[in-house]
Amino acid sequence: MDLEKRKLEVVENIKRIFYEVEKACERSDRNPEEVQVMAVTKTVDPVLVNVALEAGVKLIGENRVQEFLGKKDQYSLKGTGVHFIGHLQSNKVRQIVELVDTIQTVDSVKLASEIDKRSKALGKVMDVLVQVNISREESKSGVMAENLHELLCELSGFKSIQVQGLMTIPAFDRTKEENKQTLEQMYQLFIDMQGKNVDNINMYTLSMGMSGDYVDAIESGSNLVRIGSSMFGKRVY
Ligand SMILES: *Cc1c(COP(=O)(O)O)cnc(C)c1O
Repeated sequence: MDLEKRKLEVVENIKRIFYEVEKACERSDRNPEEVQVMAVTKTVDPVLVNVALEAGVKLIGENRVQEFLGKKDQYSLKGTGVHFIGHLQSNKVRQIVELVDTIQTVDSVKLASEIDKRSKALGKVMDVLVQVNISREESKSGVMAENLHELLCELSGFKSIQVQGLMTIPAFDRTKEENKQTLEQMYQLFIDMQGKNVDNINMYTLSMGMSGDYVDAIESGSNLVRIGSSMFGKRVY
């Protein structure tokens, strides 16, 4: 499909997504301004990412360090938030810390310690979210729910990272009903952690919901949805 046509589609998709977000907020008695809509850019032509920014998206999510390094100069970021949402290897931390505002995928003291060290060297405090493996999938990153409180306590000691909340990627192979239960379970965990009031740890952001379930996620209490294919079309790898 030609690029001009795809640009128009992205604009239409974004209008629809903003409308759906607004409706989901109405149904759950929430203020739409509390919900951030992230454009997930993996495999997407930077020209189309810029269309999304032009259409009012204020936050982008990057999965891969190399891909981001190759594309970042083509983005027209104007006060746009940039979050890292992929699996992060310790040896890539140095490259990413100076380029992003938040790392959403912290799930170990080891990774946190590396981010803390590299951020300190830049005189920066890095915002992070802790990734939770809410569906308990063996192959997936993220801390198990029962170990979350302990991890938060350990992270509270780092001076150059600031925990701002939680992130999750639920299992894909579940029914809509099962997925809804998982989203609600995750929200409950988020509320439980708010209640624990761990020193120096903020519980403001719950990053949950993707193209297939962002409406349910918002209705369950998410305040940051990460959207790729519904915005940009099916990914071509
Ligand atoms: C790819 C990706 C998304 C977006 O997925 P879609 O289903 O295309 O919306 C969201 N979050 C993470 C962490 C991703 O890797």
